[in-house]
Amino acid sequence: MEQEEKSLNFIEQIVEKDLAEGKNDGRIQTRFPPEPNGYLHIGHVKAICMDFGIAEKYNGVCNLRFDDTNPVKEDTEYVDSITNDIAWLGFKWGNIYYASDYFEQLYDLAIRFIKEGKAYVDEQTAEQIAEQKGTPTEPGVASPYRDRPIEENLRLFQAMQNGEIEEGKMVLRAKIDMANPNMHFRDPIMYRIITSHPHHRTGHRWNVYPMYDFAHGQSDYFEGVTHSICTLEFVVHRPLYDWFIDQFAEGDYRPHQYEFNRLNITYTVMSKRKMLQLVKEGLVAGWDDPRMPTVCGLRRRGYTASAIREFIDKIGYTKVEGMIDLGLLEHTVRENLKMSAPRVCAIFDPVKLVITNYDAEGETIVAENIDGNPELGTREMRFAKELYIERADFQEEGDKNFYRLSPMGREVRLKSAYIIQATGCEKDADGNITTVYATYDPQSKSGTEGGNRKTKATINWVECNSCIDAEVRLYDRLFAVENPSAEEGDFRELLNPDSLKIVNAKVEGALAGVKPQEHFQFLKQGYFVVDDDSSAEHLIFNRTASLKDNWQK
Ligand code: ATP
Ligand code: MG
Repeated sequence: MEQEEKSLNFIEQIVEKDLAEGKNDGRIQTRFPPEPNGYLHIGHVKAICMDFGIAEKYNGVCNLRFDDTNPVKEDTEYVDSITNDIAWLGFKWGNIYYASDYFEQLYDLAIRFIKEGKAYVDEQTAEQIAEQKGTPTEPGVASPYRDRPIEENLRLFQAMQNGEIEEGKMVLRAKIDMANPNMHFRDPIMYRIITSHPHHRTGHRWNVYPMYDFAHGQSDYFEGVTHSICTLEFVVHRPLYDWFIDQFAEGDYRPHQYEFNRLNITYTVMSKRKMLQLVKEGLVAGWDDPRMPTVCGLRRRGYTASAIREFIDKIGYTKVEGMIDLGLLEHTVRENLKMSAPRVCAIFDPVKLVITNYDAEGETIVAENIDGNPELGTREMRFAKELYIERADFQEEGDKNFYRLSPMGREVRLKSAYIIQATGCEKDADGNITTVYATYDPQSKSGTEGGNRKTKATINWVECNSCIDAEVRLYDRLFAVENPSAEEGDFRELLNPDSLKIVNAKVEGALAGVKPQEHFQFLKQGYFVVDDDSSAEHLIFNRTASLKDNWQK
């Protein structure tokens, strides 16, 4: 396939310029820094494709660093899911690091800040500190503890770490500038006390934990990161990132932070906090519920890693926040599966069809996996006198605009098999059609000379004795409104009540042995994947995407 020459994104341009100028001796090092407090979502994939992509493209290295500075919310379950998901996406990290690896170094650094008069212990409440912050145009108010002697700061900080001070009673703040127009410089908090929760790696070793701003840049520096890439909300943190490092770094090397726009997608939420709420309250079946925008949810929904990466490639990286249409994601997965998902028949609302003049025992039909591409393989379909077809493919009355089966005598092709004509039907006491009758033309079999005869309509079928039952889960968008995060009120009330419908379908017998993660196109229905809980006794398929965008305005 022909590939358009892609222009460089703005981060690639920066990297190429740095390489051309011989910065960092030509070394490129990035990191992906998730906090292990939830599962990865497709927004994270945008960051992953950037961080790992830059390293791959420019012969650098990308390390995975768990930003585990808040023991209250973090867990090894999340560490494991994050590593699994990144590997599944097809990326390779250099090392795995943890911010908690640097707790000792960061603590020593905090002591050094105190000794140099650049940090102090504040005993005010979080509310008092917030009240004194000022506004971008009004300077803040200095804490009454701002000028306490260095010795006292040292003693109190050690008492904080020794567990002698209650959680919330003291924090360590950097002593910078309460009038700085950048609010992040108004004596930011460096350390807080957390004694209530053991850390998932360091247990009870620490009673004080560094804040993001004091941990992130330092970790980048300790590791030798050259390009520290993150999302736009960190632009305002960048001067502080640089300031902290400048206080202690020696030599010329500095990590640099660059920011790009976050991924937001319509009809979903892109926040671990909200997703955790949906999981905990049982509003979805788990982090890997196929309606979730998580990597494991998308995988279970039938998205391939390559489809997700193609999507990220399409949307690109800019410096302006925006919203991406869910339709683009669905379009990408359809295109991705088009030439790989074998076509099969699945009848969602079956009615029996009897071919009255078919007297043979039955026969095997060989059908192409993907029409018109015999090199992509074939499968065998059992054909016999009694079949199931979709109820909607027969109309008792019929009219001139209905091209499928009706007693009007139109010829209709059974997909990959014969041409038939309906002759009548049978109903139960309530008037529901139970059986449709038809005759077939023995000379019309697909793949033979008579098979070229055209009909206005082709319909799907499965053979009654060999077909198998399957549970089919028809998933749809999780939220009923375009941007649930922008609405007032409780986001949980905006969930789409029709995001899951279950049908019991009849599918071709050839599907008896399918395994989780196998992809199919159910003809006329859409793309489906075998669910992780599917078994030979109880087949389950999840709808990945319908064939067309049913929501298009
Ligand atoms: P959430 O708000 O869902 O909790 P987060 O930003 O707190 O996300 P982190 O684990 O801190 O999650 O994120 C790791 C990296 O992924 C960060 O560099 C962050 O900028 C990036 N990231 C998170 N969400 C998105 C998004 N929607 N689009 C692009 N990058 C993202
Ligand atoms: Mg974060």
